[in-house]
Amino acid sequence: MTPRRVSILGATGSVGLATLDLIGRAEPGTYEVVALTARSNAEELARQAVRHKAAHVAIADPQAGIALKQALSDHPEITIGIGEPAVVEAAAMPADWTMAAIVGAAGLRPTLAALQQGRALAFANKECLVCAGSLFMTEAARCGATLLPVDSEHNAVFQVFDGAQRSAIRSITLTASGGPFRTWSRERMMQASRADALAHPTWDMGAKITIDSASMMNKGLEIIEACWLFDLPPEQVDVVVHPQSIVHGMVEYADGSLLAQLGSPDMRTPIASALAWPERMAAPVERLRLAEIARLDFEAPDLERFPAIRLAREAIKAGGIAPAVLNAANEIAVESFLADRIRFLDIAACVEEVLSRSHGDADMPRSLSAFDDVYAIDARARQLARDLIADRISDPQSRTTSS
Ligand code: NAD
Ligand code: MG
Repeated sequence: MTPRRVSILGATGSVGLATLDLIGRAEPGTYEVVALTARSNAEELARQAVRHKAAHVAIADPQAGIALKQALSDHPEITIGIGEPAVVEAAAMPADWTMAAIVGAAGLRPTLAALQQGRALAFANKECLVCAGSLFMTEAARCGATLLPVDSEHNAVFQVFDGAQRSAIRSITLTASGGPFRTWSRERMMQASRADALAHPTWDMGAKITIDSASMMNKGLEIIEACWLFDLPPEQVDVVVHPQSIVHGMVEYADGSLLAQLGSPDMRTPIASALAWPERMAAPVERLRLAEIARLDFEAPDLERFPAIRLAREAIKAGGIAPAVLNAANEIAVESFLADRIRFLDIAACVEEVLSRSHGDADMPRSLSAFDDVYAIDARARQLARDLIADRISDPQSRTTSS
């Protein structure tokens, strides 16, 4: 058997490490690790490269590059790339399967380079599809790339979505845990701390997506992601809150059948499904014991307390530059919340205000027809968000949380 050549973009993150965990458990000779990339965690990247005998590593942060060279000084067989262009080059190295698990729009260029290889691309980096969904899907078709959804809800839908019965598909449903603030009032959320927002009840994930789960912007981004992955209008993408995170996604057919995928809340299941696709592999996850779980609850999302879902729906309906603006503003707002510069409810308020300011902004590109437009929209929306947050900090009266 020839080993499958795999690369992992974002190898030191939560999804990257879960992917390497599965690869490390496979029979020797099953996989050959081509390239691993990271932003700045040189120590972890070096450790994974040695453990998995990677051929190449790339790190975006030049400072961390020095530490990476030192950490791999006894391993001249592993080649090293340093700087953002080196991450893109690593992504473009020939591989049979690539995991796109960089967080945020920072993943755009490397993910695109991997996609242009025309092979299987396991897609975790949802922000890429939010910013540039139509361009990514067109490019994937042009290059013959196969997109394998990794986000647990999209992977679930992918598993029960019968492409041959497209016309009989009425809707798809993404489940949401509801996050740590599912039962909190807006008043209580105003006071939410960083630690409160980072305490996710069911999933263990990177900081950005954990905050997005608390605001439910994660579900908003996922609605947009689903529209592109499954070629459906937003009206056919439903969300239901399901606190146990056991049912991940569902497809509703015209005959009344609702097909669902269930599993323990462990990313190794959707990752294994994408890694082995179209086959199946064993994953070391806790088996579901329904009699012990005993009950599964479902409730409608509360759009008043969680305006992020409404904002994302409005952005995908508006189309054009709106989803990219929404994403960039959210990334800056989340970063600012994590740095204790704004309060929790300011996140969605900031996104809404940047979307509104983007309309009359002379420096904002008006349309999105090439990847260069996406980079320009992303950069300008980040600037608008930074300016807005700086204003709010200098004028605390204007904060949502105090009004
Ligand atoms: P994380 O923060 O744990 O890891 C992010 C990875 O991206 C790290 O390896 C980091 O080094 C790399 N990275 C960050 N900025 C970079 C840059 N500028 N250049 C190059 N590399 C950079 O994030 P995560 O939780 O693993 O999430 C990764 C992606 O997967 C996100 O888009 C997230 O929404 C999605 N996702 C994650 C989970 C999960 O369980 N963690 C579930 C579903 C979807
Ligand atoms: Mg998800």
